[in-house]
Amino acid sequence: MPDQTGSTHNGRHRVVIIGSGFGGLFAARKLARLDVDVLLISSTTHHLFQPLLYQVATGILSEGVIAPSTRDVLSHKRNVTVLFGHVRDIDVERRVVTADALDTTNTYDYDTLIVAAGAGQSYFGHDEYARYAPGMKSIDDALELRGRIFGSFELAELAASGGYHDDVPRLMTFVVVGAGPTGVEMAGQIAELSRRTIAKDFRYINPKDTKVILLDAAPQVLPAFGDRLGGKAQKKLEQLGVDVQLGAKVIDVDANGINVEDSDGSRRRIIALCKVWAAGVQASPLGKILGDQTGAEVDRAGRISVNPNLTLPGHPEIFVVGDMMSLDKLPGVAQVAIQGGRFAAKQVKNRLNGKPTDEQFHYKDKGSMATISRFSAVASVGKLRLSGFLAWLMWLAVHLFYIIGFKSQFTTFFHWLVSFLGRARGERTSTEQQIYGRLAIHKLGDSFTPSADLPRRATTEDGRPLTDPDAPDDVVPQAYGARPGA
Ligand SMILES: Cc1cc2nc3c(=O)[nH]c(=O)nc-3n(C[C@H](O)[C@H](O)[C@H](O)COP(=O)(O)OP(=O)(O)OC[C@H]3O[C@@H](n4cnc5c(N)ncnc54)[C@H](O)[C@@H]3O)c2cc1C
Repeated sequence: MPDQTGSTHNGRHRVVIIGSGFGGLFAARKLARLDVDVLLISSTTHHLFQPLLYQVATGILSEGVIAPSTRDVLSHKRNVTVLFGHVRDIDVERRVVTADALDTTNTYDYDTLIVAAGAGQSYFGHDEYARYAPGMKSIDDALELRGRIFGSFELAELAASGGYHDDVPRLMTFVVVGAGPTGVEMAGQIAELSRRTIAKDFRYINPKDTKVILLDAAPQVLPAFGDRLGGKAQKKLEQLGVDVQLGAKVIDVDANGINVEDSDGSRRRIIALCKVWAAGVQASPLGKILGDQTGAEVDRAGRISVNPNLTLPGHPEIFVVGDMMSLDKLPGVAQVAIQGGRFAAKQVKNRLNGKPTDEQFHYKDKGSMATISRFSAVASVGKLRLSGFLAWLMWLAVHLFYIIGFKSQFTTFFHWLVSFLGRARGERTSTEQQIYGRLAIHKLGDSFTPSADLPRRATTEDGRPLTDPDAPDDVVPQAYGARPGA
């Protein structure tokens, strides 16, 4: 079947989607109704609802609730195949995507490509900070932070019980870097946790003595929400006991603290074991790979400029959506990705149906919200500016609506009842591997490769492949199109 992109394949148009986040998932769902083959490749096997990561880190929700299996979510979409793989290259001339999974490399041909690989944390050129101040971008991050937050209280109790009182302030000081929505939510939750949830759980320390510092180089909390709502959020945080330090630029991070330069140029050190990095994002490196080949501009945050219809210059068959794209200064929020993913899918449909293809992407701004604590949030929707309880109810309703799947919505609702009406947080479990995994992998450096212990092929006792001994170990042939059920 010929189409505008000029490609055909066994009568079915092949769409490859990279990423199972908001952009990728919503594109796949919409394409599921069309006469096309869809292949969704993602480096995670789940769809992550990032806005609630902080609730996993602070023990309110379990990771499964906010990260359902993508395969499960799309299981009824018979023309959609989901494969695990980390895309490391895209050849726009040959229309081939190359992805790694453990020790295998796979290639996939496409007629249309939708790239929705999102963004990771940016440490502004200091990736070494990540060891001491995990970011907030993945389930790994959230579980590691959960372990570090609850673990700090355990260490403080241990120190106090042994008479090492001088060490307690270091263990009970928490620094959150970045006063955007994620930083505000984290700082508010750690404060609430210490003053409410675990207030009576210890014998040697008083969790109410916990110091929570929220730092930002900017002069305002929640700058995107404007002066008034930003001011209200700051006041509420301070009522909760959060020490908000603005105009404070981080200049170094190590195991025991953070060095800061204030706006007057003076420098100081904050001693704290547990640090959280909630500042800065860097788009997927796939943006640069595409920019180098298509000439599309890539900005400092790695976002690639797209045409008004979300395609790349000279490549109407490649759409880039969500946090990776740069268009009209649109923010990196879920709605931009959702609407972008749906828009790209609609363009594929129009092209295949021979309909006009000159439509441009128009973003419908549905507003922004951030919670501060139980019963308190700020919301900016159209001309409406809300704060306090009403904004919080709105925040609850919107987030519940967008969590994927009824099971997750139901579970989230009951966890919220338990945590917000009662004091309990049912998800405080953390394991050694969650807390130390990153440090251990960092120490092992390049010598760490999971595939050494998880070989792809069965072998005999002396290490010889059980089947097909001549097949190369590291390359799996192109498998797309041969799959069942397409
Ligand atoms: C802590 C936090 C809180 C947030 N809160 C809000 C909020 O309250 N409201 C709001 O609107 N927005 C919020 N956001 C932003 C929102 O989550 C993002 O804008 C949105 O997730 C972007 O969607 P996306 O599809 O572009 O990318 P993502 O959702 O990040 O998805 C990217 C996908 O690509 C995959 N991937 C990445 N690289 C590769 C690769 N090389 N190969 C294969 N797969 C790859 C990833 O595994 C992932 O599945 C928040 C973000 C964070 C981190």
